[in-house]
Amino acid sequence: MNIPRSNYPRIVIIGGGFGGISLAEKLRKQEVQVVLLDKNNYHTFQPLLYQVSTGGLEPDSIAYPLRKVLNGYKNAFFRLAEVTEIMPEKRMLQTSIGELSYDYLVIATGSETNFFGNDELEKHAMAMKSIPQSLNLRSLILENFEQALLTDEYHERNALMNFVIVGGGPTGVELAGALAEIKKGILPKDYPDLDTRRAQINIIQARDHLLDAMSEKASKKAEDFLEELGVQVWKNVRVTSYDGKTVRTKTDLTFETATLIWAAGVKGATIKGIDAKELIAEGNRIKVDEYNRVIDHPEIFAIGDIACMQSEEAPKGHPMMAQPAIQQGRNLGENLIRLVNEKPLKPFVYKDKGSMATVGRNKAVCDLKNIRFQGVFAWFVWMFVHLFYLIGFKNRVVVFINWVYNYIRFDREARLIIRPYKRDYHQFKD
Ligand SMILES: Cc1cc2nc3c(=O)[nH]c(=O)nc-3n(C[C@H](O)[C@H](O)[C@H](O)COP(=O)(O)OP(=O)(O)OC[C@H]3O[C@@H](n4cnc5c(N)ncnc54)[C@H](O)[C@@H]3O)c2cc1C
Repeated sequence: MNIPRSNYPRIVIIGGGFGGISLAEKLRKQEVQVVLLDKNNYHTFQPLLYQVSTGGLEPDSIAYPLRKVLNGYKNAFFRLAEVTEIMPEKRMLQTSIGELSYDYLVIATGSETNFFGNDELEKHAMAMKSIPQSLNLRSLILENFEQALLTDEYHERNALMNFVIVGGGPTGVELAGALAEIKKGILPKDYPDLDTRRAQINIIQARDHLLDAMSEKASKKAEDFLEELGVQVWKNVRVTSYDGKTVRTKTDLTFETATLIWAAGVKGATIKGIDAKELIAEGNRIKVDEYNRVIDHPEIFAIGDIACMQSEEAPKGHPMMAQPAIQQGRNLGENLIRLVNEKPLKPFVYKDKGSMATVGRNKAVCDLKNIRFQGVFAWFVWMFVHLFYLIGFKNRVVVFINWVYNYIRFDREARLIIRPYKRDYHQFKD
């Protein structure tokens, strides 16, 4: 990999997500060699992926070059590489560009979409976990409307304009709200020759309420907001299959649709070598102690979504959200310096700052530490927090300008099919 030998200990970080980059920032100007590896050359701000899928933002404004994160660092290297295997006994990694040795290894690989072993769903459903997947979804949504114009067949046209979102967490709720706003504000102008009132947005939740990690009030309010926007909310419904045409559920309920969006769960993105059964907790996450150290491997650490730090307060580990990843990255940064200097380590303590979700224009729900609120103020807080955590000054400015423009003009100008999504519409007709 052409990484020079150094007298400093080498810390290899796999993954430039929220956890990986907050750790790298802590190691800036320290007497260690940092090697950051990622299969993409950019950091993705996942909370705004749904806005890319729905044409509200350009993909570039939620991505940030990982090389730029390391600009000005002493002893830091980035390599564009996918890690395929960890060999702890040799302290080596196998990657798509060759092998690399480490003194300390940090696994910050995040999570991937969980289809719970249902191959048929995985094949036909749309996931939204990366920028390419969001662009696929954006293209598919627009292509469906173009296709709907071309058919006189009533059922086929309705199915093309019927959107089914599975999963009533923040991602599902935010996406449903954005699609409903497109239906109301954009489709009638863009497709005057199509009866876009027939377009339907359905959100299916297996539990008896939406946003189940939030308060009852937030959950109820989010449901009211969605219903106000014309979204059909289906609760206590479990999807069992989707063949690209019909969504079947555990009840008699079925949906004919060309688009099923799967937002019903994620699982840890483990790597061969640190995936033995005894190391893995529920959700395919790597078990770690209070210092984010992987069990039985004192030189290997895991942070963020991939790490499961079980405790009395968090028996299933911390939530798979940005804040735990950022805070663990920072704490581990301090601990690695302590380790190198042979000082005692500091256990990780999670500071829960709360959670929030937006349903659309002027509509959001916030459960902060000591206060819960919904509506217009919550929407402003949601925007401010997202702008604050977005990486890169230019991205913040661009996103802010886009939001102001979209707000004033009731518009989403990035409704472009730049890279068509290849759906087989003939198969759909049959
Ligand atoms: C659609 C969506 C909306 C979300 N909304 C919110 C929200 O509103 N608020 C919130 O707090 N959280 C939200 N989350 C969750 C949040 O994004 C994650 O919890 C957070 O990104 C986890 O950070 P991480 O550093 O663990 O992993 P990630 O940010 O996922 O980063 C992992 C990195 O590892 C890289 N990688 C993975 N495997 C390999 C490999 N084998 N080799 C090399 N590189 C690899 C990836 O390319 C990626 O860059 C959302 C997630 C999604 C998908």
